[in-house]
Amino acid sequence: MIKDIKGLHHITSMASDARQNNTFFTETLGLRRVKKTVNFDDPNVYHLYYGDEAGTPGTVMTYFPFPGVMRGRSGVGEVSETQFAVPKGSLSFWQDRLTSKGADNVAADTVFGANCVRFNGPDGEGFVLIEAVDDARKAWTGAGIADSVAIRGFSGAKFRLHETAATAELLGFMGYQRAETEGNVTRFAMPGGNGADTIDLEALPQMPYARQGAGSVHHIAFAVENREKQLEVRKVLMDTGYQVTPVIDRDYFWAIYFRTPGGVLFEIATNEPGFDRDEDTAHLGEVLKLPARYEPYRDQIEAGLTPLAA
Ligand code: ZN
Repeated sequence: MIKDIKGLHHITSMASDARQNNTFFTETLGLRRVKKTVNFDDPNVYHLYYGDEAGTPGTVMTYFPFPGVMRGRSGVGEVSETQFAVPKGSLSFWQDRLTSKGADNVAADTVFGANCVRFNGPDGEGFVLIEAVDDARKAWTGAGIADSVAIRGFSGAKFRLHETAATAELLGFMGYQRAETEGNVTRFAMPGGNGADTIDLEALPQMPYARQGAGSVHHIAFAVENREKQLEVRKVLMDTGYQVTPVIDRDYFWAIYFRTPGGVLFEIATNEPGFDRDEDTAHLGEVLKLPARYEPYRDQIEAGLTPLAA
């Protein structure tokens, strides 16, 4: 069994409009843009990262905004919901704010006994703000949202699956423990994680497979402390029969990827070196950062990208 996974690292989705995406995350939700770079596999597309002040693993929502890409079709085999933790008593603030900013389908609800507000992002993606009881994580307040209500980071994510058994087994192997079941959803929790500690598996045996597009989660990344632990995790996964990519340098972390039995793409990412490796913490996310191999093409890359609001 794997003992080195510490909860989520980041969640990466697709968007149709970089400016709209940036405004929604930095202004409406009040997260900090901690990195403005490009998709390392397609440098004509941004890769935007939003999180807490430093982009601490477990807080980082990231996007590939492909201009004008068609909206995805919901289905099984995907992450259906990204869940953020907010302080107790903050939900009425969020319900008002999301409604006044024009977010779709804002609705109060409960999940596993906790109060929450559901809403959709600009590309229809499913989000939930869940009241957290003891979340000691420090929120980013630089966007003007008070500390008493600001988002702390992810609490977890929900997957929609045709059948859950194989993914449940994998999560157990990764160190998650089966926690509770509510209807057709079973929650798994990571003891001693980084705060972004739960994965909910929803069984929908009749639903067709998802088709990826704007608003779809591309992959979900789990955190390990460093490269040494990552190599150990990679070996154990390979020994168990998973096809895992070689270690890939993403500049701000090291990544390995593998497709899970339920269809969701998993990444294991290192907490090192972090988003301050190439710019000051005080100025994270302000200027376009490029991996070294694209630096010679900066002018043409920059000319092709939609300028973002600060
Ligand atoms: Zn990733």
